[in-house]
Amino acid sequence: MLVSPKTIELREEAVPAAPPGGIVVRVRAALTDGTDLKTYRRGHPKMPMPTRFGHEFSGDVASVATGVTAFAVGDPVMCVHTAPCGQCYWCRNGQEELCEDLLSTMILGAYSDLIAVPQRVVERNCFHKPLDIGYAQAAFLEPLSCVVHSIELLAPVPGSTVAVIGNGGFGILHALLLQRRGVEALLFGRRPQRVALARELGLQSIDATASPIGDIIAERTGDRGVDAAIECTGSIEMWERAPSLVRRGGRVSFFAGLPAESRVSFDAARLHYDEVQLIAPFHFTPRDVRSAYELIASHALPLSALISDGYSLDRIAEAFRRLDTGDALKLLIEP
Ligand SMILES: [Zn+2]
Repeated sequence: MLVSPKTIELREEAVPAAPPGGIVVRVRAALTDGTDLKTYRRGHPKMPMPTRFGHEFSGDVASVATGVTAFAVGDPVMCVHTAPCGQCYWCRNGQEELCEDLLSTMILGAYSDLIAVPQRVVERNCFHKPLDIGYAQAAFLEPLSCVVHSIELLAPVPGSTVAVIGNGGFGILHALLLQRRGVEALLFGRRPQRVALARELGLQSIDATASPIGDIIAERTGDRGVDAAIECTGSIEMWERAPSLVRRGGRVSFFAGLPAESRVSFDAARLHYDEVQLIAPFHFTPRDVRSAYELIASHALPLSALISDGYSLDRIAEAFRRLDTGDALKLLIEP
């Protein structure tokens, strides 16, 4: 439980019962991500403290509700923490990521032994974990779904050049997926270990402290600018700078959100006369989750390389203190 910013407490709780039509999963692997770290640092408007947290996980089915036939006790499973209702305006019009009822069944509490998964998630966003996929890799289903959705929305054409700003876990996943689609991905970041890691993964990993990103892009593209830029740092400064990095007619995708109430400003002439398009992908659809599942199941991505270290659940406070220093990409929590 996150009881207040930067204070995590382990608590004993009753074993959860499977919700109607749902299952309970014994967590085998949970991952940390940027949202968890932000929540740890300053709380989250949708998660009043004390709150359970953690939302990237995989495990084994511990119990099932009456009538559940798709999964049985003992099955290894991987799922995401939400599923759309399928009935609201947005669901009926192909934008399930914006489902008005998305949060009502959101699961939190992957940093625990057991987690209850509601019917809607079981029916739409839960998969049998292939036996040759580790639990830690399977726990990438949720972050990878977000990245699949982001790239689907941007729809870059093969052969185009896309700048990915920020080389945290999400930036690296974007660059890996873009590269798979035949897109030239220029991945910018500051921390030397991450620049080196991305390079080891075969990415065009560029040290953003060497010279201004705009200069590097101008040099690489003959002053034209990249076809698209994906903002993965979540800083106001980079949001505002991103439109200057793309070519005339280019697109900017704001993947990383900003704190509530943030305001950003852009040069209107740049947007209008150069026809620069701004998009801001959010969350994912069941189709994106299936694509992410297929990527994981086919061993398409070097996911283990993104895990800096592993911790047992009783050392989770230590894990978050370390994340807070910026000295780790993603940490694996194993109950
Ligand atoms: Zn809906």
